[in-house]
Amino acid sequence: WKPAWSVRAVPVDYMVPGYNSGRVNTLRLWTAKSYDEFDLLTFNKSEYLDAVKPQVAAENISKILYPEDSTPEGKALRLEQQYFFVAASIHDAIRVFYPGQDKPDLTTFPSKINFQLNDTHPVIGIPELMRVLMDEYGYDWNTAWGITTKTFNYTCHTLLPEALEVWPAKLIGELLPRHLEIIQGISEQFRNELRGKGVAEDQVERMRIATDADENGEGAVVRMAYLATYGGSYVNGVAELHSELLKDVTLKDFSNVYPDKFKNVTNGVTPRRFVRLSNPRMSALITEGLGTDAWQGDLELLEGLKPLADDPAFVKKFAEVKKQNKLAFVDFAKQKYGFEINPDTMFNTIVKRLHEYKRQSMKILQVISTYAGIKNGTIDVDKMLPRTVFFGAKSAPGYAMAKLTIQLINNVARVVNNDPACKGKLAVFFPENYNIELAMNLIPATDLDEQISQAGKEASGTGNMKFALNGALTVGTLDGANVEIRERVGAENFFLFGMTVDEVEKLYAEGYDHGGSRKYYESDPRLKTAVDMVADGTFSNGDKSVYEPLVNDWLTHDYFMAMADFSSYMDIQAQIEETYRDPMKWARMAVLNVANSGYFSSDRSIEDYLDRIWHTGALPTAE
Ligand SMILES: *Cc1c(COP(=O)(O)O)cnc(C)c1O
Repeated sequence: WKPAWSVRAVPVDYMVPGYNSGRVNTLRLWTAKSYDEFDLLTFNKSEYLDAVKPQVAAENISKILYPEDSTPEGKALRLEQQYFFVAASIHDAIRVFYPGQDKPDLTTFPSKINFQLNDTHPVIGIPELMRVLMDEYGYDWNTAWGITTKTFNYTCHTLLPEALEVWPAKLIGELLPRHLEIIQGISEQFRNELRGKGVAEDQVERMRIATDADENGEGAVVRMAYLATYGGSYVNGVAELHSELLKDVTLKDFSNVYPDKFKNVTNGVTPRRFVRLSNPRMSALITEGLGTDAWQGDLELLEGLKPLADDPAFVKKFAEVKKQNKLAFVDFAKQKYGFEINPDTMFNTIVKRLHEYKRQSMKILQVISTYAGIKNGTIDVDKMLPRTVFFGAKSAPGYAMAKLTIQLINNVARVVNNDPACKGKLAVFFPENYNIELAMNLIPATDLDEQISQAGKEASGTGNMKFALNGALTVGTLDGANVEIRERVGAENFFLFGMTVDEVEKLYAEGYDHGGSRKYYESDPRLKTAVDMVADGTFSNGDKSVYEPLVNDWLTHDYFMAMADFSSYMDIQAQIEETYRDPMKWARMAVLNVANSGYFSSDRSIEDYLDRIWHTGALPTAE
């Protein structure tokens, strides 16, 4: 392969200090730079744009993470980016681990290096390592394949088929012709291996990594998740339920043939950032309660807080910490966004990427339903539990439905917050640009966290762990790591609602997404009123066309079943309000959430990777 053009990969190292380990790792990121110097001659002819063209083309590769891929140009840029990052990392690994060697013995590569494929985005690394081993270092195919499969493992982060990348073979062939050739070789070898194992021909066909083109030479694709599953040693999901569904549904054919490849590693979050740094008040109280700060490096020690859940003095202090965190957030939000937030309300938060499966629309319909109740008198305003609802979410740039949902939430906030009838009872805030800074301020101030995805769609979730560890209670479905959180904190300390994975599957089988949602809309007046308000222009200055795409989807398609789960969701919200009216009971439940969530430390996740996948053991603490 003689590439038509090249870019320079410039490393940028971030230091990642371990907590009390005496070690600092480097995270090496890559910047793309042009080999072509700035063209002064062209510039002097006043052709300013042409003078910088090569630099712009090169630098675009690493300018933006996940560039929009709804156009052919965007798709090509993504593949260029994926290839650029993995090619740089693979060459760098050889340089770093075999310094100054012209003819390194790369059969030892897997004993030095492990590439944990974080989703399908870096899977092009498999054919790249094959190419490097064969074309640059002269190994034969079988030796290269042995090294490659021992070097790679694959972590799957989704169950949504559209997120399991499938590349048109044509695009790969145009940009990376040698890689396409290698992928096709791997795909053929795989088919022969399956046939050799006696796998039936229809299953062999279903499992193809590279598919054939149609009679017009179109339609051939490469399935990156299949390539990753075959090309590495292990495949893991990121929560127990997710790993089971991977084995039983998404990659069932593969787990039948290679049952030992499949593992689970439940995700975790770092207690240093998401507890100690973001919640100093609660951290001080935990240290006081446990009599040590060792929990920051061994989060399971939080279990020692369990007896304190029955100590009213401790529970009171815990409630006071939450109160102070809420007051601090009120100040932060006033400064940063100009919000006027009433701290004497329940802080109810839903923060995560905007996606239909996460069902932000169900949450906004609940808010609208409450608003409708205030307006039409079905809710007694004097007796209702005051709530402030926080949304935080970003949409992918090409995702029209998600953008429309963001617009709806903002417009509901505008209407509700400016209606005197809601004053002190209901408010909605949607701070823009949800990011780590906002997360670190909002999570410790939250009373009630929403994890309301359709069962079977959220691989793990990590937001759910951050909230439980910061003394918020969760309202959630049996999905992703919610299942394990509920198991650990206790069913009585978790607000469960909604359909299970099996019930969801049954509804699909009955044709739900072809008009099945209408029945639910007709039968629950709370839902009907809310949907009708969106349809009649209440939140769009009377313009009924604005939210037509949303309303139309809810009533005819509703693939993620927000309508079907709505009644159960409203019912659990009533139970939540009942509980919240007893502050000591609520705070006790919150203490038990913190005490039982130590498992969700990223330290435990990494230990599971060491134990189940890398088999290397941990490095000892350095002096
Ligand atoms: C934790 C986190 C997420 C992931 O949240 P989920 O609720 O698990 O989807 C997304 N964005 C930011 C900024 C986070 O901190």
